[in-house]
Amino acid sequence: MNSKKIQKECPCQSGQIYQSCCGPFLMKIATPLTPEQLMRSRYTAFAKVDIDYIQATMTGLALEGFNYDDLKVWAASIEWVGLQIISTSTQSDTGEVVFVASYLDNGVAGKLQEKSQFVNRGGTWFYYDGDVRFDT
Ligand SMILES: [Zn+2]
Repeated sequence: MNSKKIQKECPCQSGQIYQSCCGPFLMKIATPLTPEQLMRSRYTAFAKVDIDYIQATMTGLALEGFNYDDLKVWAASIEWVGLQIISTSTQSDTGEVVFVASYLDNGVAGKLQEKSQFVNRGGTWFYYDGDVRFDT
């Protein structure tokens, strides 16, 4: 499906290769140091349908209404094709990332804009809440 070159690049479109970008986070050999790194790695996890990682990086409000199987079906039905970070801001133990993710849903292009909230618990960043808007 993809050329070899594209497969090596991280799905989060940082321009880095997967093994030195989101790969170590998804492989649980490193922990994101910033909300943006966590956000990027969660995008990559969605692209790879790694729902375990999505779940493991959530806390609080985000886990309310979380349904593993529903999310897995949804993530698998969508092809993620782009990520644009609009803004990030980080305080000592909270952070916010605004981003636009582009996807193909059965070949139909769509965009999702989200303002994500992150919290740091004991040195680890978690996704806490998000405001999602879908644009078509
Ligand atoms: Zn990445």
